[in-house]
Amino acid sequence: MRALSERVQTFTDSVIRRMTRISDEYGAINLSQGFPDYDPPKALMDALARIAYEGPHQYSITFGDKDLRDALAAKHSRAVGREVDPETEVVVTCGGTEAMMCAMMTICNPGDKVLVFSPFYENYGADAILSGAEPIYVPLVPPEYSFDISLIEQGFRDGAKAIIICNPSNPCGKVFTREELSAIAELAIRYDAYVVTDEVYEYMVYAPSVHTVMASLPGMYERTITCNSLSKTFAVTGWRLGFLIAPPEVAEAAKKVHDFLTVGAPAPLQAAAVAGFSLGDEYFEGLRELYTEKRNYFLAGLDRAGLKHNVPQGSYFVMVDISDFLALPRFAGWSDLEFCEWMIKEIGVAAVPGSSFFREPVNNLIRLHFARSKETMDEALSRLAKLGAMLG
Ligand code: GLN
Repeated sequence: MRALSERVQTFTDSVIRRMTRISDEYGAINLSQGFPDYDPPKALMDALARIAYEGPHQYSITFGDKDLRDALAAKHSRAVGREVDPETEVVVTCGGTEAMMCAMMTICNPGDKVLVFSPFYENYGADAILSGAEPIYVPLVPPEYSFDISLIEQGFRDGAKAIIICNPSNPCGKVFTREELSAIAELAIRYDAYVVTDEVYEYMVYAPSVHTVMASLPGMYERTITCNSLSKTFAVTGWRLGFLIAPPEVAEAAKKVHDFLTVGAPAPLQAAAVAGFSLGDEYFEGLRELYTEKRNYFLAGLDRAGLKHNVPQGSYFVMVDISDFLALPRFAGWSDLEFCEWMIKEIGVAAVPGSSFFREPVNNLIRLHFARSKETMDEALSRLAKLGAMLG
């Protein structure tokens, strides 16, 4: 047989999603791929039940159900302090995943350089390969995950056409401050670059951190593609609903990419999701409180288990440092992937090896998520306590 495309030889399947499959195989508690284990708000389920009989069941407009685009435009208008046009600036996609891929394919020619922070959500690597872009990595240095702005300027000087910013950040939980984003914005304007943001964890932000919308900064709406999703906000990761919002020239081009990639996101689910936006601000405030509690509860459990970890400012991920384990003779020479596979089988908890997020050769971190009910967290923490006990 003739060889398949070169592009498919250059990346692996997603390690995050692979860990879910292994976790399921061994019946472990899955704290690897991040998704909630509780139901969406009742309003969405009721709407979906009604829509099962009333429709729509046929295609929606390719760039999104009108009511959903109206709701998204209204939400983003408030966030950026200007009128966002639901007809020309909003594209509903199949998850945040398609929004990001679509943004990259809209901006990049093969060979274009794009700045990406490391650690990064693993999809961005594949997004770059599939759109032909060449990533220039800028380290976010643990434990604070701080960065050197001069490396970003250097990247732009070297011709980077865009920068990808995941804020709040998966996997490291960093929430970029307004000052950090303003410094990046100033450079993006000076070097005439695009900014692609992934803001899917916008409501999982822990005080005193606050989420700043990049497109709300002066001069940034014009050059920002805001990618987001309903997955985390409404606990509907399986509905595959995401969106991107950008100025008309960019969004009109993105619509074409989206149209030929997927035609459209599932029409009944788009129609049902509209109900989420009538829940009001209390819902989003409640989400922040819920996740603040989950974070504090889970981190306290990790502390009791004697596991070292960072303190995420946002998202629902925490990085656990496994250096002390790898120093034990039992694990000598192990990779973080081997450690995670062992953890699934022997401890009964699934994590994602940190190496799948870092450009640098990092082998001492694993990512856990806490989008889980208290009962599930309790069981996971009691298993993790056994892990911690191995350190004596
Ligand atoms: N963002 C989630 C994670 O990093 C999962 C997203 C996905 O698998 N599409 O675990």
